[in-house]
Amino acid sequence: MQFINGRPADGSGPEQQVVNPATGEVIAAYPEATPADVETAVAAAAEAFREWSRASPADRSDAMHRVAAILRERSGRIAADETAQTGKPIRLATEFDVPGTIDNVSFFAGAARALEGKAAAEYLPTHTSMIRREPIGVVGSIAPWNYPLQMAAWKILPAIAAGNTIVVKPAEITPTTTIALAQACTDAGIPDGVVNVVTGAGATTGEALVTHDTVRMVSFTGSTAVGRHIMGLISHRAKRIHLELGGKAPLVVFDDADLEGAVHGAVAGALINAGQDCTAATRAYVQRPLYDDFVRGVADVLATVRTGDPTSMETDLGSLSSRRQQERVDGFVRRAEADGGKVVCGGAAPTTGYDGTDLTRGAFYSPTLITDVDQRSEIVQREVFGPVLVVLPFDGDDEGIDLANDVEFGLAASAWTRDLQRGLRASREIEAGTVWINDHIALASEMPHGGVKGSGFGKDMSSYAFEEYTTVKHVMVDITGRPRREWHRTIFTGDTGGQ
Ligand code: NAD
Repeated sequence: MQFINGRPADGSGPEQQVVNPATGEVIAAYPEATPADVETAVAAAAEAFREWSRASPADRSDAMHRVAAILRERSGRIAADETAQTGKPIRLATEFDVPGTIDNVSFFAGAARALEGKAAAEYLPTHTSMIRREPIGVVGSIAPWNYPLQMAAWKILPAIAAGNTIVVKPAEITPTTTIALAQACTDAGIPDGVVNVVTGAGATTGEALVTHDTVRMVSFTGSTAVGRHIMGLISHRAKRIHLELGGKAPLVVFDDADLEGAVHGAVAGALINAGQDCTAATRAYVQRPLYDDFVRGVADVLATVRTGDPTSMETDLGSLSSRRQQERVDGFVRRAEADGGKVVCGGAAPTTGYDGTDLTRGAFYSPTLITDVDQRSEIVQREVFGPVLVVLPFDGDDEGIDLANDVEFGLAASAWTRDLQRGLRASREIEAGTVWINDHIALASEMPHGGVKGSGFGKDMSSYAFEEYTTVKHVMVDITGRPRREWHRTIFTGDTGGQ
């Protein structure tokens, strides 16, 4: 399950299985990429760079528009594959993952033709200066397992739109739709070697990729711990790095908020992708007058969520991405409970779905609401990455914002209020790469996604991402034609020819 130089390839490493986490069935098995396979992929990307970096923006754009059209034709199959490898509901894959990816491809197809920079001008009267925005070279990207298709697209599209070539490594447990995206690129006429996929474990395949000398830029989406580790690995090589790391997104619900809107926003934000979303709503801080009603409201709405077979369009909540993740989520909940936290609802793996499906073979976890925990406790401070919402009360506006900021992460947050000034103040004070007002999760391809603090730096999506995958070159041209310059006086004493 590799894709190198325009075609599927086999790795030569140990076997890795792809398991449907909702059923426990093995749906694919493949040999992982070894460092030698990574070498082949990077060599293909380096070879392709010369031609692709010189392709006109219009040619790159046309090819990427064709990728979008191919994905649209194949969307049903890709959505089914995404559901099979992640356990996410087919409704989410069909209405969010696949169309979101197609929109991203279309956006970057447009961005390829819209290079922006400073005006060329005589900033010194004797010289014309101009800016070239150039691709960086071979990009090495690492993606996580929560949104395999979208994360691969977020990495691949801005990089190739700007004229780079790329080797991307999806998470070893979710490779299939990244391969499908690479195949769509080839079928659309993107030259061989521009988009390559190597699949395998982080410590072997991943490290071989990020430390490869030919890889000029590393773009990583995943946990904060691994992001920091990779940054350490490559720090002495002075490569460009882009890190999209963990999150622990707060909702700050002020006492004038629309309660129904805030409750539904919190539940949807907490349960999307079974909470395995770096911007998922994880901590709701609710101003005291609304607190009891909010907790009751969330519990009532959680009780209506249908957990079951992810392949049914009726299912709201599918399984987590792996048994390992299920155990990890349960561990957090058990420790929160042992610490005195109140599990208002959920807090266990369900055994039967709303539709009667046997869920015991899968990695399901019931929607969980926890209250009565301390701000410093693990469940409030660490990323759980599961369908778990913690609710805490606050009094003054500043306290709510201070609590929201009191974690190591800063990826996304939301503020809920009917008062515009209050909302705008919150948007200024909350430390996060995205602040929603009266919503949570919504995305637009034109707008950036990325964090601050322990959530990393660099932007995905939008023209900001496009710029990140380019380098700015200053070209300065003497327009006097004279052999001697005034500044030569710093070197040569005496006459400088009047310049
Ligand atoms: P992870 O950090 O365990 O793995 C991410 C990727 O890194 C995988 O492909 C993995 O194989 C690879 N990897 C692991 N060790 C490596 C190493 N030593 N060298 C190179 N690569 C290595 O994360 P995960 O569990 O797959 O994904 C969940 C995490 O991703 C969460 O923390 C989540 O918040 C984060 N995430 C962030 C964003 C964002 O945009 N900020 C988006 C999605 C997910």
